[in-house]
Amino acid sequence: MLIAIKCPKCDTENSFSLVDSSYQGPYRCWKCRELFTIRIENNELKSCEPLTQEEFDRQQEIEALRAKFKQQ
Ligand SMILES: [Zn+2]
Repeated sequence: MLIAIKCPKCDTENSFSLVDSSYQGPYRCWKCRELFTIRIENNELKSCEPLTQEEFDRQQEIEALRAKFKQQ
């Protein structure tokens, strides 16, 4: 499933591939490289909030930890 996301900063159309019908997490515009936190419910974009680099790094760390625990 591909979701079209219009970047709030540069207005570029991005397509985001969705595994489930909902998603919440970091997302980066391919063009302006701006970071956002997006929330998708039932294949619909519900929110798109600017995300700082620090916050993004923190989320990546949490994801990495989660992946680690899954392997065990
Ligand atoms: Zn952009």
